Amino acid sequence: MQNVKEILDLMKSLAPQDGAVIEKAYMVAEKAHDGQKRFTGDPYVKHSFETAKNLAVFGMDRDTIIAGLLHDALEDGNITSEVIEKEFGKEVLFLVQGVTKLGKLKYQGVERHVESLRKMFIATAQDMRVLIIKLADRLHNIKTLYGHEKKDKQRRIALETLEIYAPLANRLGMGKLKGELEDEAFPYVYPEDYKRVKELLKERRGENEKYLEKFHRSLQKELAAQGMKNVHTDYRTKRLYSLYKKLKRKNNDIEKIYDITSLRIIVPTVEDCYKVLGIIHSAWRPLPGRIKDYIALPKPNGYQSIHTTVFTGDGGIVEIQIRTEGMHKEARYGIASHLAYKGELGKPRKKGEALKKNVLWIDQLIECQKNVSETGEFLENLKMDFFKDRVFVFTPKGDVIDLPEESTPVDFAYAVHSDIGNHMSGAKINGKMVGIDTKLKNGDIVEIVTKKGGHPTSKWLESSKTTLAKRNIRGAIQRPGHKTGKH
Ligand code: MN
Repeated sequence: MQNVKEILDLMKSLAPQDGAVIEKAYMVAEKAHDGQKRFTGDPYVKHSFETAKNLAVFGMDRDTIIAGLLHDALEDGNITSEVIEKEFGKEVLFLVQGVTKLGKLKYQGVERHVESLRKMFIATAQDMRVLIIKLADRLHNIKTLYGHEKKDKQRRIALETLEIYAPLANRLGMGKLKGELEDEAFPYVYPEDYKRVKELLKERRGENEKYLEKFHRSLQKELAAQGMKNVHTDYRTKRLYSLYKKLKRKNNDIEKIYDITSLRIIVPTVEDCYKVLGIIHSAWRPLPGRIKDYIALPKPNGYQSIHTTVFTGDGGIVEIQIRTEGMHKEARYGIASHLAYKGELGKPRKKGEALKKNVLWIDQLIECQKNVSETGEFLENLKMDFFKDRVFVFTPKGDVIDLPEESTPVDFAYAVHSDIGNHMSGAKINGKMVGIDTKLKNGDIVEIVTKKGGHPTSKWLESSKTTLAKRNIRGAIQRPGHKTGKH
């Protein structure tokens, strides 16, 4: 028997009846999975419990936690929908059914796998909490993956975690979850690299921390001398898989990676963040090109912080992240914190832009995939459009457009509006005319020049990266009459 109190203690808000209802849900789950065992030999309900506990850590609401306890009960356990609805209400049943409909990924080749993904996005578009339960479920599954006897199965589950679930967590702004999923999956997918990077980190960490501690002491003196109060600091060490990916980008040159360990400064207000930045930059010389203000310009997944890297003066280089307490919480569990509070009708309150943006993102994904019949192509597009590293560029008015790496003005134009894409005649980046196949860089301001008679040509297909642009271009060049220039 697990201790339900552990879950209750993690919950932010608890109405008078909540404890008793969650307790009951646990008993119902235990009964539904009676006699069933996990690969690890544990009773099955341990998995239900841990999934619910993860949801409590993410800051989710009561109904989601109950659905977490019951998430496998309909499919694998001995219980009916009627009982769930009678005992816990429509909302919980909807969530449990949502997760059940996604089905267990049975790993019978790409086709099934892709079908599950498609289902997942459709369910998610209806209620984001279904995806979050799935992520909580996956986190426990990957942590207990050692229990699987079959090596090939282990690898497949881990690979899928790296390629699909971790990027999804990232898109939802759930940075801590993303990191945990990746680091748990890493050794199963790339065992050799895992060992190598782990060694490298161990070697480097010590030296890095020496500089950091010394710098930290001087910084605290400096901040106190400038009258800064309520400043919390801590270190964060780069996660293994994240370091591995960065090493690959930097040709395995560890000397080029400055954030193996970084210093985190947490202050009460946004104003304090800029004050701290000013104090640091007046006392230590920053490395050019490494100052990133994600407070004024948050990442599309909602992440906010100021990053800078300075020379410590004694041969060291340290990265510093400055943020408020609110941003710090948000960086760990992102969108989940927006879904946590219940509205009056038991529906999650739609709070803040982050929620809307993410739902829009999933809507776009489904829309994009509607016309794709080849399952292999679906998966490729999915990886290409949504999980590749992104560049963030701006319209002349300052709106952020989020595109996959190596996107061009053609992609930008179609991301803004298909009409703009279809009538593009040229493009400016940061005020200069450029070729339409120019690769966009983070922070570019992109302006599309249109003209009435402008029209896509098949050459644009090579100059574009996104499915959205390519589909629009194909549509436009196939439309009759375009060769004669009629519109
Ligand atoms: Mn499960």
